[in-house]
Amino acid sequence: MPDWRLFSTTPAARELALAQIEAFSKQVPVLYVILGSNAVALAWTHWTVAPFGLVFTVPGVLIALCLARIVVWKRRAGRAMTAGAAQRRLLTASVIGPVLGVIYLVWALSLYDYGSPTLQAHVIFFVGITVVSCIFCLMHVRAAALGVTGAIITPFLIFLLTTGDAALIAIGINLALVSVAMVYMLLVYSRDFAVMVAAQAETQRLSDENRLLANVDSLTGLPNRRQFFSRLNACLDTADGPAPPFVLGMVDLDGFKPINDLYGHFIGDQVLAEMGLRLRELASPNIFIARLGGDEFGVIILDVDRSQAQAFGDRVCATLQEPLAAPSVLAKVSASVGLVESVSCLKAEMLYERADYALYHAKQHQRGRAVMLSAELALEIRRQHAIEQGLLIGDLEAELSLLFQPIFDVDTMRVTAFEALARWSSAELGPVSPGEFIPLAERSSLINRVTQILLRRALAEARGWPDAVKLSFNLSARDLSPAAILGIVSIVEKSGVPSRRIIFEVTETAAMRDIALAEESLALLRRLGARIALDDFGSGHSSLTHVRRLPLDKIKIDRDFIVDIEADGASRAIVKSVIDLCRNLELCCIVEGVETERQKAILSGLGCNVMQGYLFGRPISAAAVPSALARTMQEAS
Ligand code: C2E
Ligand code: CA
Ligand code: CA
Repeated sequence: MPDWRLFSTTPAARELALAQIEAFSKQVPVLYVILGSNAVALAWTHWTVAPFGLVFTVPGVLIALCLARIVVWKRRAGRAMTAGAAQRRLLTASVIGPVLGVIYLVWALSLYDYGSPTLQAHVIFFVGITVVSCIFCLMHVRAAALGVTGAIITPFLIFLLTTGDAALIAIGINLALVSVAMVYMLLVYSRDFAVMVAAQAETQRLSDENRLLANVDSLTGLPNRRQFFSRLNACLDTADGPAPPFVLGMVDLDGFKPINDLYGHFIGDQVLAEMGLRLRELASPNIFIARLGGDEFGVIILDVDRSQAQAFGDRVCATLQEPLAAPSVLAKVSASVGLVESVSCLKAEMLYERADYALYHAKQHQRGRAVMLSAELALEIRRQHAIEQGLLIGDLEAELSLLFQPIFDVDTMRVTAFEALARWSSAELGPVSPGEFIPLAERSSLINRVTQILLRRALAEARGWPDAVKLSFNLSARDLSPAAILGIVSIVEKSGVPSRRIIFEVTETAAMRDIALAEESLALLRRLGARIALDDFGSGHSSLTHVRRLPLDKIKIDRDFIVDIEADGASRAIVKSVIDLCRNLELCCIVEGVETERQKAILSGLGCNVMQGYLFGRPISAAAVPSALARTMQEAS
């Protein structure tokens, strides 16, 4: 009976053939050993009675054949095999099996007439036991097993039935019945085996699919963060000797967040998928690119020098800044890239941090470009590490302090508020400027601790000031999280300072980081009674529509516009338009960084009367506040 599955090219048939050949190859040697030893036994009992050719030559050839087949199968064992080859081999077995069976039968029956009844019984036993062993050993090759059964049992049965001997006829019928039962078992087993193989294949497929899902980013089809880090670790930990050098890159899209905010997440996802596709086209066996999350991608470049890596970084930037395919999106997306060479003693996280720093540097100073970490940048990183450590382990209650800088109403020449400005004198590093430590604290939740310590202290000072003098206090983006804002509200409530005397300053960039969150948190502070000022206005990239969404009372124009207001007409025009905007939106406008009388005169002329800057007073200690206030009172009266 031919087994059509051996001719099928369906995946299931191919899987089955491979499983069959694997199971069968374990039984082949056993089968040939049985055949060989049965032949030896039969030849031996007929040694003296049968002709030389029948007891020596024929079994000799048969045994040699068995040994040769054992050797062939042993050699093949363990070698990888294609499904096609497995099918061909099973087909061969299905042919060789019956042919060998017939040769065995003819040989055994040709000995039958030479022996005594006992020897004849041996011949009959030999044929019977050989068939049963063959069916067992060929269990996994249905066609071969059925072929052997048919090729031996049918002629043998005819032989037994035609002897006319009742016992032999009974043996024949018995053997036929047993064979039918065994064929039935064989068919059932063969079907179950096929089902089991199919189930195994399905399990394997599901597990492959799971592995794929766990390692691939579904939006872009790129490897995901998990796969990226396992690859990065593999690049660093080679079992033998130092790892070959490579370059690690971090890619971050510029201008993606506004697309998400403006066009929604569906379009945002489309843009990311397009960027992913472009990056996939840049990947090669030596260049591994993954999506790390959001609009951030990671690159591992093998076998390159600095300049080649830089060239690849430039290529990434050029590729990603090409116009978007989505016609509805008018915004432009570009990418900044941070690159770092591997250092064998550095762990993955440290290397990642360095690449991240190079990226941060690119974003700050060379937006849309690729920046390779230099020695100077590495030094900066070390300094930043020291600062982060200092903030983490330092006694911040003792090391942090505040200075207060007056905010003036130039019409009345009175101080309307003091802005609290943080100072940190680290036990390890000495004084560290807020421009340096605040952005670092802002990278983690450390800033929340810093804010809480400073706010408590600032409010304690403000409690002693005249009622008309307000406290202006700087908040960071992370201070706007729901948990942090509740902490701030509770500190204000416990302080005993009426909240109408507090102004919270939030920079434009901080508010834009998550405008919905900023809107909600600032509204909460405002409901409390506090005022909100948008700090450093003009330094970020926010649109006026966004500014309008925020619950604001004041806008502080960034110092950069004031610095060259005397010489630069453009700065003057910008300041004027912001002052007009504030008037239209009924917001109070504050200019900061006023250093000269001339600047003051120009700003007054433009219609601004609330100012802050060295001209009116530098940041002073809390102890110096009362005398400064007294002095301005005197000057005003
Ligand atoms: P900022 O909020 O814009 O604060 C104004 C900065 O300008 C202060 O620098 C102040 O000393 C400086 N300044 C004021 N008038 C003049 C002037 O006429 N000329 C010049 N050249 N500079 C002037 P400072 O104290 O170094 O603070 C730097 C930044 O650090 C602040 O900018 C603010 O963003 C941040 N910062 C300071 N204290 C805190 C704080 O307690 N919390 C948070 N989150 N950030 C703070
Ligand atoms: Ca401020
Ligand atoms: Ca400012």
